[in-house]
Amino acid sequence: VDRIKHNAPVLVIGLGRFGAACAGELDRLDREVLAIDDNADLVQKWSERVTHTVQADARNIEALKQIGATDFSIAVVAVGSSIEASVLITANLVDLKIPQIWAKAVSQSHGKILARVGANHVIYPEAEAGERVAHLVSGRMLDFIQFDDDFALVKMYPPKPIRGLNLTESGVRTKHNVTVVGVKSPGKPFTYATADTVVSNHDLIIVSGTSADIERFAALGN
Ligand code: ADP
Repeated sequence: VDRIKHNAPVLVIGLGRFGAACAGELDRLDREVLAIDDNADLVQKWSERVTHTVQADARNIEALKQIGATDFSIAVVAVGSSIEASVLITANLVDLKIPQIWAKAVSQSHGKILARVGANHVIYPEAEAGERVAHLVSGRMLDFIQFDDDFALVKMYPPKPIRGLNLTESGVRTKHNVTVVGVKSPGKPFTYATADTVVSNHDLIIVSGTSADIERFAALGN
C-alpha cells in the first residue's frame, strides 16, 4: 500500500449501498473517484455526488479498458448480490494489473474465492457489523473496533469504580488490564489521557485492550 500515492484516484465498481457509501465518503475526502455501475438509474443518481460516474458492465474487460481502468492503482469491487459478477470483475482487475484490489464478500466462501482470484483485501461488511453490534447491545459501549489480533478500541462511559479518580488512583491498567487512551468531557474536544487525568461522571473515554478485558471492564457498570 505504501508505494501507492495516498491520494491516488479510486475506481469503485457497483453503486449499491456499500459502493455508494464508499464512493461518497471518498468524494467527501476529496479523493478522485470513478464509479461504475451497469444500472443507468444509479449512475444518474450518483453523478452529482461523485467526480466521475460511468455506466458499464465491469464483467467485460474491454469495457473496463475503454473507461481507463488500467490507469487506476486502487479499485473497490462493491458487487455482492451476484457472486459470479463479483468474481469475474475481480479477475478482470487482476488481469488489468491493478495493484490494490479491495473486494466485498457476502460469505466466507465468497471471500475465499475473491482472495484466491487475487483480491488484496477482502471485506465482510455484514459479518463485521453483526459482530460489532454484539458488543454494543449491552449498552455499555458506544463504539467498538476490533483488530485481527483480538485487540480492541472502545468508546464508553467510565465504569463507576474509576470515576472521580485520576488514572493512577483508579489503577485502570494494573487492576483492569486496559488502557484509557483518551477522555472527552462534555463540550470539550478529546484529549489524550495521562496519569493525572481525572475521569468524571459525564466524560466519555476511549479504552484499548483485549476485547475480553474490555468487556470485563465495561461490565463493572455504572
Ligand atoms: P449492496 O448490498 O451494497 O447494495 P449490491 O450487491 O446489491 O450491493 O449492489 C451491487 C451494485 O453493483 C448494483 O448497483 C449493481 O447494479 C451493480 N452491478 C452488478 N453487477 C455489475 C456489473 N457486472 N458491472 C457493473 N455494476 C454491476
